[in-house]
Order: sequence, then C-alpha cells, then structure tokens
Amino acid sequence: MRTIRKIIVHHSASPAVSLEKIDEWHRERGFDMVGYHFVIQAGGMVRLGRPIDRTGAHCKGHNSDSIGVCVVGSFEDGTPVPGSQWAALVAIVGDLVRQYGLRFSDVYGHKELGPTLCPGFDPALLRDALIDECET
Ligand SMILES: [Zn+2]
Repeated sequence: MRTIRKIIVHHSASPAVSLEKIDEWHRERGFDMVGYHFVIQAGGMVRLGRPIDRTGAHCKGHNSDSIGVCVVGSFEDGTPVPGSQWAALVAIVGDLVRQYGLRFSDVYGHKELGPTLCPGFDPALLRDALIDECET
C-alpha cells in the first residue's frame, strides 16, 4: 500500500480530449498507461485513470507519495476552468483529502512542485474553494 501525502493537480494543456486520448498520448511517451489517477473531462465527468495503489507518472520527484488529478483543457492563458469541471475538481479533491487524512495545504498545483505553468490556474483558488466547501 502506498502512503499518500499529497494531491497534485494538472491540466492537459490540450483541447477537450477524453481519458482514452490522454492514455494514448502517455503510452506513446512510454508509460504503460495514463499517468494520472483521475481525469476530469469537459462537462465535469470524472474518469478513473491509473489505479491509486499504483505510483503515477505526472510530477517528477513527487509521484511515489501523491495522487495526480488532471483537468482536461488549457488554462495557462487565464481561461477559467468551466464551472462543471471546477465543481468536479473541488468534489474529488475534497473527497481524497478526507479519505487520506490530508490537509488542504497538501493539495498542490503542478507548478508549485516543478518548472511548469501547469495547471494554468492559481492552485490557491482550489485550496480556498476546498476550505469554503468544508465550512458550509
Ligand atoms: Zn502537470
């Protein structure tokens, strides 16, 4: 059993593709399957990627103790995450935080842990949304 210490959020930096497409891209890069554990597709459907008990492939140096969640789309230019995907992200990350006994400060955007713009949006907005959800 892996010890989970953090949740790391990504975007796909792509158009509104499906989990299957990301799986195909990651296999082309030599992974044996999609590197994320969850993929939130356009419209907000949460898809299961790599099983949580398997180490992901999504954030160099941090894969062994984390869960990777990817929001499909590209948000680097300031485009907001669509409401349906944002709601799904807050819900799934909130569930994971509770399930693994983490704190909201254990939720990171990829760019806080490596040289990337991923996930585009400010990860603090997600932590604030999680705190808001918890208080209501
Ligand atoms: Zn990323």
